[in-house]
Amino acid sequence: MARIVILGAGISGHTAARCLGRWIGKQHEVIVVSPRAKWNWVPSNIWVAVGEMTADQVTFDLAPIYKKINVDFRQASALSIHPEGDAAHAKPCVKIEYTSPELAGQTESIAYDYLINATGPKLNFGATPGLGPAPGYTVSVCTPDHALEANAQLQKQIAAMQTGERRTFVIGTGHGMATCQGAAFEYICNVDHRLREAGVRKQARLVWLSNEYEVGDLGIGGVHVTRGGYVTNGKAFIESLMAERGIEWITRAHVSKVEPGTIHYELLDGSYNELAFDFAMLIPPFAGVGLKAYDPSGADIADALFAPNGFMKVDADYTPKPYED
Ligand SMILES: Cc1cc2nc3c(=O)[nH]c(=O)nc-3n(C[C@H](O)[C@H](O)[C@H](O)COP(=O)(O)OP(=O)(O)OC[C@H]3O[C@@H](n4cnc5c(N)ncnc54)[C@H](O)[C@@H]3O)c2cc1C
Repeated sequence: MARIVILGAGISGHTAARCLGRWIGKQHEVIVVSPRAKWNWVPSNIWVAVGEMTADQVTFDLAPIYKKINVDFRQASALSIHPEGDAAHAKPCVKIEYTSPELAGQTESIAYDYLINATGPKLNFGATPGLGPAPGYTVSVCTPDHALEANAQLQKQIAAMQTGERRTFVIGTGHGMATCQGAAFEYICNVDHRLREAGVRKQARLVWLSNEYEVGDLGIGGVHVTRGGYVTNGKAFIESLMAERGIEWITRAHVSKVEPGTIHYELLDGSYNELAFDFAMLIPPFAGVGLKAYDPSGADIADALFAPNGFMKVDADYTPKPYED
């Protein structure tokens, strides 16, 4: 019997757990280690952040699902990976710290035969001073709690505009190295729609502030969109969409600092600029979650396993392999 440990129960970890639990969960041991009791369908947070879905609609409890599919769920954070074992274990192992209310703070080492690291990104708001929810000055749609807070702030702005006030909304990326532009783009469309529904769109200045080279790059080198029988490139398609909706855009921008009501950004042409805002949702850059790694003597081998941004080094070989591999 082999033991497979999966770190993280997000989109990739949970998918791996469901497949492995059903396929081999009776012959082998499948353990999931993840700090939160609930799963989150992250892409739908953009609906929570405009009040069109609730947090309950985008999350569910993991434990009952894992019980049904032969997966042992440990509500815990992984702290360190020991790929060649440690002083107490000859086999590879991972050190975890429980986060469930009953076991909070307790640590344990779990030996494994196979390890899947699916811990996803750390939301690295710290890379830009003033970015992100308090103590920062911008909102986020990256977690259900962030999205709820974003919606609460959005509704306040809408209420002020319904009394005749004007507001500036800035949506996009909060650092030159931020990715996930697609989520911000979906959100600016949702906000535009919500403001129209509330009858206040005319009082809103809506600005797309992005590190993309061109609008429509979306961090993936652009897209082609088939619409009305034509294939259009993303730049033409999304610029048209923004122009039709009266959304302004600023691209090639690295946000360097956010102060209350002011975003500071540098453009690729070297100029430094400021943009006043009442409401800003800027996606943070991502980093690895900060796992450590040690050899059996206790020496730090994090450099061998992780890139400087903390993400695990991978071979990036996605060619299909036989099932046995
Ligand atoms: C608002 C938004 C909208 C998006 N929309 C889309 C979309 O439409 N289409 C698309 O393809 N992508 C979209 N994305 C990107 C997509 O959500 C991510 O690529 C995806 O969630 C990554 O999956 P993952 O499993 O690697 O990480 P995650 O889904 O982030 O899961 C990571 C898991 O690891 C856990 N974890 C963290 N630290 C530890 C630790 N130390 N030990 C153990 N577990 C840990 C976390 O709690 C979580 O369960 C969107 C992202 C955002 C923020």
